[in-house]
Amino acid sequence: MTVRAALRDATEQLGAVSPSARLDAELLMAAALGVPRGELLLRHLDEAVPAGFAPLQRRRLGHEPIAYILGHAEFYGIELIVTPSVLIPRGDSETLIDAAIRALAGRPPARALDCGTGSGALLIAALAQWPGAHGIGIDRSLGALPVAAANAARAGVGERARILHRDWDTPGWASGLGRFDLVLANPPYVEDEAELERPVREHEPAGALFAGPAGLDAYRRLLPQLPALLAPGGVALVEIGWQQAEAVAAIGGESGLSATVHRDLGNRPRALEFK
Ligand code: GLN
Repeated sequence: MTVRAALRDATEQLGAVSPSARLDAELLMAAALGVPRGELLLRHLDEAVPAGFAPLQRRRLGHEPIAYILGHAEFYGIELIVTPSVLIPRGDSETLIDAAIRALAGRPPARALDCGTGSGALLIAALAQWPGAHGIGIDRSLGALPVAAANAARAGVGERARILHRDWDTPGWASGLGRFDLVLANPPYVEDEAELERPVREHEPAGALFAGPAGLDAYRRLLPQLPALLAPGGVALVEIGWQQAEAVAAIGGESGLSATVHRDLGNRPRALEFK
């Protein structure tokens, strides 16, 4: 069978599990051939389908996210390695970087902290944005740490990034880290697995997603610590579920923090800026 015919078949089959079946088929085919997708369409359509394609297609038919199959995903224009130990970076989370750029216009941050860094996406995007900044990414997940460190190095910010095994639930976790001009966090905020699509529910790390009743547990534990983490004039950008803005702002308010809402490209509340 030719690549062209296999793409046609695969698109039809993947339609049952994916809203982007044709794109998925092309990405998996390009990966099986070891070529960029653009080159696949220009030069390889009349070749024999490579043996490596069928196993990749089977994984996608099993609802595995395309990013885990390919092993990488893009965030804020930066290519990141992703493994099943880390949440796949979402376009929605780019809202936090856009908001940080606006909040810190004209006063580039010297020190940044990413709480629950996962793949390192938020930390790395921030360090790439501000070439004078140094940053720390913490995660309680041992599996995430080497992924974040490798991504920082690949993105050329490894010298300015420290990836540490810390859990913000452990008293004293931040001792010695100092204060930060920018604190970023995309904590777990999902209440119920019924809210999630099957690829997310079955393949992404539960520890990065679920946060107890109402999905607010992580905010209750992290936000009261922000006043001690922020340097004078510092800001925190925290991702939220789109229906959680009021509840999370109220939790911050109990610690004397004022909140500004930032919306994602779908115009839903997606991040709170705390000062
Ligand atoms: N936005 C993610 C989702 O709904 C959840 C991310 C999170 O809990 N931090 O799939």
